[in-house]
Amino acid sequence: MTNHLYDGLLRAGLAERERVFAFLPGDREISFGDLETRIARLANVLVENDVAPGDRVAMQAGKSIEALVLYLAAIRAGAVFLPLNTGYTPTEIAYFLGDAKPALFVCPPDREEALAPLAADAGARLFTLDEDGTGGTLAEHAAKAGTDFTTISRGPDDLAAILYTSGTTGRSKGAMLSHANLLSNAEVLRETWRFDADDVLLHVLPIFHTHGLFVATNTLLVAGGALLFLPRFDLDAVFAHLPKATSMMGVPTFYTRMLDDPRLTRDATAHMRVFTSGSAPLLAETHTAFEARTGQRILERYGMTETNMNTSNPYDGERRAGTVGFPLAGTELRIVSPDGDPLPDGEIGGIEVRGPNVFRGYWDMPEKTAQEFREDGFFMTGDLGRIDADGYVIIVGRDKDLVISGGYNVYPKEVEEVIDALPGVVESAVIGVPHPDFGEGVVAVVVAREALEEARVIAPLEESLARYKQPKRVVFTDELPRNTMGKVQKNILRKTYADLFA
Ligand code: ATP
Ligand code: MG
Repeated sequence: MTNHLYDGLLRAGLAERERVFAFLPGDREISFGDLETRIARLANVLVENDVAPGDRVAMQAGKSIEALVLYLAAIRAGAVFLPLNTGYTPTEIAYFLGDAKPALFVCPPDREEALAPLAADAGARLFTLDEDGTGGTLAEHAAKAGTDFTTISRGPDDLAAILYTSGTTGRSKGAMLSHANLLSNAEVLRETWRFDADDVLLHVLPIFHTHGLFVATNTLLVAGGALLFLPRFDLDAVFAHLPKATSMMGVPTFYTRMLDDPRLTRDATAHMRVFTSGSAPLLAETHTAFEARTGQRILERYGMTETNMNTSNPYDGERRAGTVGFPLAGTELRIVSPDGDPLPDGEIGGIEVRGPNVFRGYWDMPEKTAQEFREDGFFMTGDLGRIDADGYVIIVGRDKDLVISGGYNVYPKEVEEVIDALPGVVESAVIGVPHPDFGEGVVAVVVAREALEEARVIAPLEESLARYKQPKRVVFTDELPRNTMGKVQKNILRKTYADLFA
C-alpha cells in the first residue's frame, strides 16, 4: 500500500538501511533500518490503542528521537500528527486538546497528573514519554510491540499534520497540512539547498515547530542524510559537534549567540557546507558580521506554519543580506494592494503565495480559512514586503503591525532599526496606538541598558526619519512580551499602551 508522505520521506534511507539516520550525544547512532523498526513499534502501539486513519495524535514532549519517531509512526499509521510547544501551560494545552480532539495524547511523566483530566475531557488516551525518550508508558508499550507494521494507505491530499501557529498576533490557529504539502516542500528544499546522503545536519531546533520538524527533519530524510540530533541549542554542544556536521539550520538568535562566542572562527566552520536562517528576520548586520568572522554567508529563507517554506536565497548566486531571496520552484508569490491588485516591483504590499506547499485551511475555522484565501487560490500571508530590482523578496513586517499615522504608512521595522542602533538601547518595539488627531500615534517601547530619557531617544531620530515616522512617545520597559517561540507580541503592547494619547 502506498502512503504518500511516509514512502517519500523514507525512500532514500531505506534503500541503504545500514546508513546512519541520527547521531546522538554520547557516540550513539541510529541507522535507517533501526528507525524503521522503531516506527513500526510505535505505529503498532497507536493502532492497538484505536488510533484510526485521520485521527489526531497529539504530543507535548521533550526533544528526543523517540518523539521524532512518534511523528513518523503517526504518519505511517495514517493519523494526523499534532505537536505542541513544550512551553505551553496546562491551561493552554486545554485549548489545543479541546480544539483538535486527538484520539491519543503523549505528555511528559511529570505532567501526567495535571494533564490527565484535560485528556479525558477531550476523549484522548494518555501516554507518557520522558525527556530522553527512553521512559514513560509510551516507551514501555513500544518495547513490547511488534516490529512489523503494514503501512496504512494515504494519498497526497490526506492530512498529515495539524500544526498550530506560534500565536504571535493572537490565538494560535491549527494549520492543516497534507501529505503533499509536506513532501513537496521537503523535496524542493533538498534540491534548492543541495542536500544529499553525505550531509550531516546539526539539529538544534525544537521539533514542535515547522522549522525543526519539517524543514530540518523532512529535508534530511528525503535526502537520505543524517541528523546530528541535540536536545537544544547550547553553545558548548554546538561547538563540540560542529566538526562532524556539514550543515546547520537556525533562528537568528542562534547566530547572534554564536557571534558572541570566541569559538566561532573561520577554522571552526571551514568544513561547513551551509548555514540557513529563518522563522524571524535575520538582521543584515548579523549576516555581515557572520561572514566577516567565518567567511560563511548565511542563507536566509522565509516561511510560515501555514505554507511551509516560500522563498529562499540562492545556493549558488548572491545571498543578499536583509532579503529572503526568491520564490521556491513551484511556489508563486505576488505583492498586492489591500484590495488584492498586484503591485509593481519595488512597492510595498501584502505578500500572497500559491503552490503545493500551501496548507488546506485552518482546523475547524472555515470562515477564517475563507477570509485568508483569494478566489484564485492565493493565500494572504499577513506579511508585508516588496520585491527589489533583482527579484529578491524583502519582508518589511506584518500587516497587523503596520502603523497608519496621519494617513501615512509607518513600517515599525524601519523605526526599530534606527532606535536599536542608539547607545544604551537593548531593543525596541514600535507600535501604533489610537491618537485623537492622527488616527494612530507612533509609540516606541524601549528596553534600555541604562537609565535613558524619552527626549534622548527621540532627538537623534530627527535626523534619520521623516517626522511622521518619529515616535510621539517613548516608553521604557524591562522586557518585551514574547511568546514561547521568542517572537515579540505587539498585540499585548498595543493593549498596554492603548490609552497613551487618550
Ligand atoms: P501567528 O500566526 O499565530 O500570529 P506566527 O505568524 O509568528 O504566529 P509562525 O508560523 O511560526 O507563527 O511564523 C511565521 C511568521 O514568521 C511569518 O509570517 C513571518 O512574519 C515570520 N518569518 C518567518 N521567516 C522570516 C524571515 N526570514 N524574515 C522575516 N520574518 C520571517
Ligand atoms: Mg502567522
